[in-house]
Amino acid sequence: MKVQAAVAVGKEQPFIIKELELDEPRAGEARVRMVASGVCHTDAVVHDEWYPVPMPAVLGHEGAGIVEAVGPGVTSVVPGDKVVLSMSTCGACEYCLSGHPSFCVNMWPLNFGARRMDGSTAFTDENGQPVGSHFFGQSSFAHYSNVAERSIVKVPDSTPLEILGPLGCGIQTGAGTFLNVLKPWPGSSIVVFGTGAVGLAGMLAAIASGATTVIAVDIVDSRLEFAKTLGATHTINSKNEDAVARIKEITHGGAHFALDSTGNKVVFVQMLNSLRPLGHGAMVGAAAMGSEAAVDVGALLMTGIKLSIVLEGDAVPQTFIPRLISLHEKGLFPFDKLITKYRFEDINKAFADSASGVTIKPVLVY
Ligand SMILES: [Zn+2]
Ligand SMILES: [Zn+2]
Repeated sequence: MKVQAAVAVGKEQPFIIKELELDEPRAGEARVRMVASGVCHTDAVVHDEWYPVPMPAVLGHEGAGIVEAVGPGVTSVVPGDKVVLSMSTCGACEYCLSGHPSFCVNMWPLNFGARRMDGSTAFTDENGQPVGSHFFGQSSFAHYSNVAERSIVKVPDSTPLEILGPLGCGIQTGAGTFLNVLKPWPGSSIVVFGTGAVGLAGMLAAIASGATTVIAVDIVDSRLEFAKTLGATHTINSKNEDAVARIKEITHGGAHFALDSTGNKVVFVQMLNSLRPLGHGAMVGAAAMGSEAAVDVGALLMTGIKLSIVLEGDAVPQTFIPRLISLHEKGLFPFDKLITKYRFEDINKAFADSASGVTIKPVLVY
């Protein structure tokens, strides 16, 4: 069938919306009609060719839509089901089987290969040339896509698909880091470094967990003001203030839990130094390969802190995303406040607004 898709053609070139041919869903795939898709930082860095994803390709990995057809062997969904799309994993390796699919041994080819495992693509252009598909198993920047079953999370019929796409990656990453890994307790102190979608989603999840001292650190005052409206009890502009000293002052010796969503090596060290003894920090930001941070190993010994490196919130999407939807329905996790909607046709504006910080979490509506 013919479908409209936004095609990434290479670094610093805008996405081109064009008609592509989509093949039939194969074994273990469902054809999904997209209703909306979030725009994530990973789409931007892949578009900028930080990672060697073959171009041209259809990116997008925070899709939400409705199943139209299923290929052979698909048992978890039927046509008509509402679905949110997340990462693709093998389901059979040690990490998938132990509930940590974000470290799947096939994470790279299944999510960044832009091909099926047999090398084929679901999309072809007007000349019959392959266009990359299956980005994160889904390639959601298209009106229709053939999606790997392991990427699919069935959601209740009552849920508003237009806002749910970001649960598949950015929101899951921030919220999962707190709910699945750090696990702040009622009355604890937490810090988030970076108040983008991941950091703020983490902050909201920490508040839902009962954290009562909630510190947001960023270098943009308007972002910090916004963090306050979401429940931050303290904000620090680390361009003007020594973030570590201020956090130690606010928390009387350091925070119990901290999240670095920035991928900045200086901030990473600040996060470690902002923890109180036995504190627990998590790094989730995508740093450029080769980023080396200067850590005082000697001083660290006396702290007993824990550090976790977390991908995708260490979540099993099929069980975690329904939990987030449930928290949202109860008013305990208002992640929709992070979202700004754009028409699919305005995808280049959505990326520009995300890069400039005008928008925290753009969502394209089809
Ligand atoms: Zn696996
Ligand atoms: Zn993402």
